[in-house]
Amino acid sequence: MSSELTIPADLLPRDGRFGSGPSRVRDEQVQAIVAAQPRLLGTSHRQAPVKSLVREVREGLAALYSLPDGYEVLLGNGGSTSFWDAAAFSLVERRAQHCAFGEFGAKFAKATTTAPHLEASDVIEAPAGDVAVPLARDGVDVYAWPHNETSTGAMAPVVRPVGIGDALTVIDGTSAAGGLFLDPTQADVYYFAPQKSFGSDGGLWFALVSPAAIERIERIAASGRYIPETLALKNALDNSRLDQTLNTPALTPLVMMREQLAWMNGNGGMEFVTGRTAESARRIYTWADATQYTVTFVTQPSNRSQVVATVDLLPPVDSAQLRSALRSAGVVDIDPYRKLGRNQIRVGMFPSVDPDDVSALTASIDWLVEKSLT
Ligand SMILES: *Cc1c(COP(=O)(O)O)cnc(C)c1O
Repeated sequence: MSSELTIPADLLPRDGRFGSGPSRVRDEQVQAIVAAQPRLLGTSHRQAPVKSLVREVREGLAALYSLPDGYEVLLGNGGSTSFWDAAAFSLVERRAQHCAFGEFGAKFAKATTTAPHLEASDVIEAPAGDVAVPLARDGVDVYAWPHNETSTGAMAPVVRPVGIGDALTVIDGTSAAGGLFLDPTQADVYYFAPQKSFGSDGGLWFALVSPAAIERIERIAASGRYIPETLALKNALDNSRLDQTLNTPALTPLVMMREQLAWMNGNGGMEFVTGRTAESARRIYTWADATQYTVTFVTQPSNRSQVVATVDLLPPVDSAQLRSALRSAGVVDIDPYRKLGRNQIRVGMFPSVDPDDVSALTASIDWLVEKSLT
């Protein structure tokens, strides 16, 4: 496929960003940054303007998830990767169980398995494209799995396993939050970073925490365990309650996040965002199932992610050539997860992505394939 092929302009998506994180940023989010000058940007994070920004973000998340009484929204610096370490120090009492069916679930499993103060983790694996589900096991006090495995495009149910007593469910919602439905009572900790559905910049983490998780955080903090300051969720709890972070946060991601939450909640909240992602998903999987040179990677239809679609390409169609032709037309970041190494495209379909752009993407791909094979 040569990059001399020029996709007709009326076929192309209006916005060519389909990344799985960082992902498409809406214009209004950029305007919100401009509007934050000079009253907010460049001002102290310990003063009212920034604290009320943090409060509005926390309230916006509570509203989006209709959080039950007693649940709280925490935040801190470092993104989801740093939350894994915080969880290993501040949430796991003795032993965690992890479901690992892709890169991200496996990384969290590694964080608790290698922590010297914890017992080796119980890891339930499933091959890429499939999902593993948690199983009640004696001695496990945290059950952890990703709601959406961004590396493979498989989504898993968030349901508290039967018979786990007062163990906590700790769910990686990084690519699911803001795009997939969640019953918050099923998760004691639902954590995520803002650079996927929230179209913000990376670097922060957020966590929706249950009363049981708060109790666990406080108990471990009081237990005398050595916990580095930045990984102590007790610090995050105390600071979040004051609409602050332990140390200085980047302000623009919070501004972008507030704008995105206002857009989501103003248009109908959870129903609006999941309606959009469901429609995008319907369009891409219908196309992949009906097209001769494509095969949906996730075989079980109920596991096919509504926010990150993975579609294998059959030879002679070549993903690298296709992506390079698309990239010259401004359609970017549909690369498969690098370690998966498949002849595949991976398409982020977060709420900021217009379902019509997903249709335009598949039409552009069809056009390229047809032109290069005939
Ligand atoms: C992107 C992603 C992460 C990593 O997030 P960072 O903020 O870069 O640490 C973790 N888990 C999942 C499921 C992700 O999609």
